[in-house]
Amino acid sequence: NTFDNYQFDDEIKRALALLKYEIPTKVQIEVIPKVFENRDLIVKSQTGSGKTASFGIPICQIIESDCINPQALILTPTRELATQVRDNISDIGRFKRIKTVALYGKEPISQQIEEFEQKIHIIVGTPGRLKDHIERGTFILDEIKYLIIDEADEMLNMGFLKDVEAILTKLPIDRRTMVFSATYPKKVENICRQYMTDPINISI
Ligand code: AMP
Repeated sequence: NTFDNYQFDDEIKRALALLKYEIPTKVQIEVIPKVFENRDLIVKSQTGSGKTASFGIPICQIIESDCINPQALILTPTRELATQVRDNISDIGRFKRIKTVALYGKEPISQQIEEFEQKIHIIVGTPGRLKDHIERGTFILDEIKYLIIDEADEMLNMGFLKDVEAILTKLPIDRRTMVFSATYPKKVENICRQYMTDPINISI
């Protein structure tokens, strides 16, 4: 089972080859087809499992590069993870010219707003700063088709529940939601139950 067996566009295949991704990891084997089936997903997996590419690859494949407004929003607990995820997805989407930005605190908000003068396809960020941007109307949410909550347990442990909920209530209803977490404490389960539609559970 190699990535050659997947029906990705040439731009995506070339990017995977450049990254030297040949064989999909377990989480990628499970998650990628389900994204194409347009399902909500609750994934139990650790960091280092290749989970970023498990959503990054199908989302880069599906996204329309001509669309001006962002189509996917990825929430991460820390700026370190936000930059890591942005870099990985930028690499995957490079030949499709997919533009991914990372937004987090401790960086001037005005500088981040300037980035939105260009086309942006995917936004990665920490919940507090993303909520600020949404309240300021920095970007239009109407075309968001995917929400990914990465390391959900960490995020809620850090006290981001209110910010995550504020973001969730502002996104289009007609979207897919994917939650990735190493553990599923009550707080995470509650979010899943409240904001997801008939999700599939995947445990790696
Ligand atoms: P992650 O769990 O998303 O942080 O990924 C862990 C590391 O595995 C990163 O350095 C990725 O670039 C790498 N990686 C992800 N998928 C694959 C793959 N299919 N083949 C080889 N390396 C991969």
